[in-house]
Amino acid sequence: MTIPNETDVLVVGGGPAGALLGCLLARRGIDVVVAEKQSHLDREFRGETLAAPSVVTLRRLGFGPALERHGYLETTAVTMRMEGRRVFSLDYGRFGIPTKPTDIPQPALIKIFNDAAAGLPSHTYLSGVGCTELLQENGAVRGAVLKSKDGERVEVRARLVVGADGRFSKVRKEAGITARIQPAGRDFLSFKLPRPADWGTEAELIVERNKHLVVLPTFPDFLRVSNNLPKRGMGELRKEGFASFRAGIAAIDPRLKPLLDEHLTSWNDTSFLEIFTAEVDEWARDGLVLIGDASHTCTPILGQGVNLAIQDTVCITPVIARSLERGKPGSQVPAADLADFVAVRRKHKSMVTGFQRRQEAALEQHTPLGTALRRARFQVLDRLPMKYSLFGNVLAAPHPIDPVDLRTPQPQPVGA
Ligand SMILES: Cc1cc2nc3c(=O)[nH]c(=O)nc-3n(C[C@H](O)[C@H](O)[C@H](O)COP(=O)(O)OP(=O)(O)OC[C@H]3O[C@@H](n4cnc5c(N)ncnc54)[C@H](O)[C@@H]3O)c2cc1C
Repeated sequence: MTIPNETDVLVVGGGPAGALLGCLLARRGIDVVVAEKQSHLDREFRGETLAAPSVVTLRRLGFGPALERHGYLETTAVTMRMEGRRVFSLDYGRFGIPTKPTDIPQPALIKIFNDAAAGLPSHTYLSGVGCTELLQENGAVRGAVLKSKDGERVEVRARLVVGADGRFSKVRKEAGITARIQPAGRDFLSFKLPRPADWGTEAELIVERNKHLVVLPTFPDFLRVSNNLPKRGMGELRKEGFASFRAGIAAIDPRLKPLLDEHLTSWNDTSFLEIFTAEVDEWARDGLVLIGDASHTCTPILGQGVNLAIQDTVCITPVIARSLERGKPGSQVPAADLADFVAVRRKHKSMVTGFQRRQEAALEQHTPLGTALRRARFQVLDRLPMKYSLFGNVLAAPHPIDPVDLRTPQPQPVGA
């Protein structure tokens, strides 16, 4: 693997945002390098549910056959039970979208993007290569220093560096952009269990006062279960012991007890997720833009992380293409060319975060009065026809795809 000294666009991070952006830019013939610090795609417990508008987008961009080849699981509805009563539900078939939220492991999704880009001459994928510094001159970003696992260090000049390096973004840090981190009142401990054959295809939120479980049918035959912990509550939980943790889960959802007894045997079967939102004031400067979790980390409510990352990506692809074409060869993409992208995406992201914060606050209720009012609120909301338009703002917002991206060569199966 050779790290090139220059490129038009250097994408740091090969998650859903970075991998898709690399593919879409290369399909337009733009010289792009994607640097991913991990040398494998295996990631446990990352966003596995693709929101329905993302699935529509991926199909329109030509990734449908690859999704079919891999296989996936559609979620048909979301239901909420509180203190033993079913209080709220949404049927995904009623959002007017020709598909449903779709569960596919994130490594498989990223591989689909990488495979589609692999044969394109202007695409370079660097596996096991991390960004360690930015090259900055007179307030503009001119590229980045990349370092491979075997110690090779290369200064890569680029007209645009895209920070797509996730919730703890190194690019953001190196640019001196401070993220406002707002912790949620809870963290998650998650695990997978085999899914019984007669289990439904609904995503479920099961709440008992201030304790809850998210139970998601997961491809191919799992349930993904997440249990909330109070912030910094892991130490206390461990002190109480694993048996007590398991018993706590079974008390919230007794259906899970036999599965827990047989398949959840130690803390090693669980995975910790710190829940917070991160917001930045500066998403772009000359030669630099942040996308996906690097510019806006959100909470797990309604599974929006990958959706926002894909939305950012389809939205910024034509913006980058136009700016590169307009600018003098070798010149930086000016922040002014990215301003509309930032404004549009910031507005949408703020709406999603605001929505999530209200739901997070509702989940924190624990007094008898607070939980009774919460139940009543969801029961009333459940009867209102407007619930679909309300939740549709988050769950069904369409992605603005540039027609050029629909015309560029469609992904081919590897080896075709
Ligand atoms: C446990 C968990 C469950 C989740 N569940 C869902 C879900 O069901 N649905 C949903 O929509 N979202 C979910 N999310 C959120 C979702 O995973 C993220 O929002 C989404 O992956 C963001 O995509 P991204 O490409 O911006 O960043 P990431 O997916 O974080 O990708 C960033 C990439 O950058 C690489 N990287 C980091 N630093 C460097 C560096 N210095 N140099 C080079 N590469 C670097 C990383 O290795 C990583 O591959 C979940 C997140 C977690 C942690």
